[in-house]
Amino acid sequence: YDQRDGFIWMDGGLVPWRDAKVHVLTHALHYGSGVFEGARIYEGEVFASRRHAERLRASAEILGFEVPYSAEQLEQAFRDVIKAQKLDEGYIRPVAWRGPEEMGVAAKHSKIHVAVAVWDWGSYFPMEERLKGIRLCFAKYRRPDPATAPSTAKAAGLYMICTIEKHRSMDLGYNDALMLDWRGYVAEATGANIFFVKDGQIHTPDADCFLNGITRQTLIAQAKARGITVHERRIQPEEMAGFEQCFLTGSAAEVTPVSEIGEYRFTVGEITKSLMEEYSALARPSTRPDKLRHLAA
Ligand code: PMP
Repeated sequence: YDQRDGFIWMDGGLVPWRDAKVHVLTHALHYGSGVFEGARIYEGEVFASRRHAERLRASAEILGFEVPYSAEQLEQAFRDVIKAQKLDEGYIRPVAWRGPEEMGVAAKHSKIHVAVAVWDWGSYFPMEERLKGIRLCFAKYRRPDPATAPSTAKAAGLYMICTIEKHRSMDLGYNDALMLDWRGYVAEATGANIFFVKDGQIHTPDADCFLNGITRQTLIAQAKARGITVHERRIQPEEMAGFEQCFLTGSAAEVTPVSEIGEYRFTVGEITKSLMEEYSALARPSTRPDKLRHLAA
């Protein structure tokens, strides 16, 4: 990814893509003191741009540092880099981290750096598999107790177990892995939240020890606007035997049907299909339904 033409926004302005570099003594590389965002660009606009800008700032605050740009300034940086890259559809990655000014666990005086990059990124899961429903295995690692890690932040360090599990699932021939939480309840996939459908109602785990995704919150609002009951609750893995449909949500994954998790099987049913189609209409400015416009801010 580093040898490309174009520009990346870094520390206040656009720099040539190849020059957007960091030093090896960057604190974040050693101690995980970085936070990031991931959003999609549809028709040249970032979906839920303000919420992503605010979440970057909130994640940093949880890690004990302040992003030196306001949400408005970050959103302007998003627009500047999208324009510089002439990107109509794709992905945007804002990231903030402690720099190399201080080495050691303590780094109170390190400089806070911020960058925003955009690139072309098609479907997160292969499109044909997405329509049939993707396949998940069970992960070995669990989402940590909030008393063990800052689990509500989108913090780089929390992704160590996600990459391990994603790789393991791919090696076993699956698309992704389902992670349980530290208590053994269903939690989420390695980069997306999870939902189930049973008897026309939606069930999803309480977001009490993992990222309460912006897409998750959008999906819940979409379902409620349609009069579908949504239960946010603790879900035991064995309950999956009684669930009819399953799907993942995430800015990159959008709404992705799931056909298989370990020994459990699901169909790609009407509720999943219609919410998936509605999310895709909502994400694009030109097809956004008026009644859901507030969800795109
Ligand atoms: N959980 C994890 C671990 C993720 O990486 C993501 C993607 N950011 C999500 C959930 C979904 O979050 P969002 O809908 O805000 O993209």
